[in-house]
This record gives sequence, structure tokens and C-alpha cells, in this order.
Amino acid sequence: MLGTVLASGNPGKLKELQALLRRQFRLIAMSELNLDPVEETGATFEENALIKARAAVAQCGLPALSDDSGLEVDALNGAPGVFSARYAGRNADSSANIRKLLGELGGVAPPHRSARFRCVLTLVMPDEEHAPLIAHGVWEGSIAQRPQGSGGFGYDPVFLDRDSGQCAALMSRGEKGCISHRGAAARKLRALVDAGRNAAG
Ligand code: IMP
Repeated sequence: MLGTVLASGNPGKLKELQALLRRQFRLIAMSELNLDPVEETGATFEENALIKARAAVAQCGLPALSDDSGLEVDALNGAPGVFSARYAGRNADSSANIRKLLGELGGVAPPHRSARFRCVLTLVMPDEEHAPLIAHGVWEGSIAQRPQGSGGFGYDPVFLDRDSGQCAALMSRGEKGCISHRGAAARKLRALVDAGRNAAG
């Protein structure tokens, strides 16, 4: 199985993607290869995913997988969106981002707190022959009034699944992977990789 660098410094994404894609990829953390993080200058998840994967390939010559993802809140016109990781400032941690989000939503009643996570996975190969493989996933839900649980990462303590009402930070990694934006994108990417292998014979 060919080693593939995960073009992300986020340990939460690495753990989830290692579990979701363990049969297709041996994912290597950027830190293991001493790769530099890349500035996310794109205006969309798709652009940022491609920027990160291409930069990793250019630095190490291995295939690279990137995950660009984020939270869109309807009452905030889609914010924080591509700025999810740095919502409360460039070096903000998840608790600061959650505090800012709950502050912005102060006074917004539960029926109007709908939100979704989006994830774009992009696989870039080092050769010119293979076009990038791109897979999208969405997870519909809403924003809780206060944080709960300690599982997952990022906004998980305030994200409630639309169907069950359960908080993402109270789910096991397996449960989250079955319904999450990242799980959906990973299943699509697996199908694209398998289709490519079958076509190559
Ligand atoms: P980026 O893709 O590096 O720009 O960062 C995505 C940001 O979106 C993360 O730092 C989290 O704040 C948020 N995010 C993406 N996926 C998840 C998730 O599965 N749970 C919680 N937060 C997430």
C-alpha cells in the first residue's frame, strides 16, 4: 500500500481519516515528513483542498490527500465556512472558536440554529497522468446552546446531528464516521480510487 501524506496538521482529521481509509491508504502525518504548513488562500473548500494537496506533493513527491472542511451556520449566512479553523483569530483554538460561535448565535432560538459541516477530500498524485480525485460530503445538523462531551475535535461539542439530535462530541469515532461529512466524502473517494484501479486492470 503506497504511503500517502495527509496535507493537514490537524490530528483530529488524521485519526478520523486513518480509520475511514485504512484499506486504501497508509496515511502519513505532515509532521513525520517535516513538511511546512500551507497558507489557505482559496475562497472555497475545493480551492483550499487543491492548494494543500498540491503543495504537499511539491514538497515531498508522494501522493497527497487533503481535507478541507468547515461549518456553515444558516443564521450567520454560512459563516464561519472556510474560516472555521480561524474564526476567533489566526491562532484561535477550538474553545475560542466555539465561544465566538455561541456568542454570535446568542438570542437565536433552536429552530433557527440549523447548520452543516462540509468536507472536500482531494487526492493528488505526483505524476501528470492522473487528474486529482475530488469527493464531497455534507452533514446536516444544528448548533447546541452549550457545549457537551469531549470526543472528536473542533466544533463537535456544539454540533447536533439533525436526525438523532445527538451531539457529535458524544459519538464514538465509528458512529461519527457513519454519518459525518468526512465519512461521506471518504466513501466517495474510496469508490473513485477503486474505479481507477479497476480501469487500470
Ligand atoms: P481547515 O480544513 O484546515 O480549514 O479546518 C477546518 C475546520 O473546520 C477545523 O479546524 C474545525 O474547526 C472545523 N471542522 C471540520 N470538520 C470538523 C469536524 O468533523 N468536527 C468539528 N469541527 C470540524
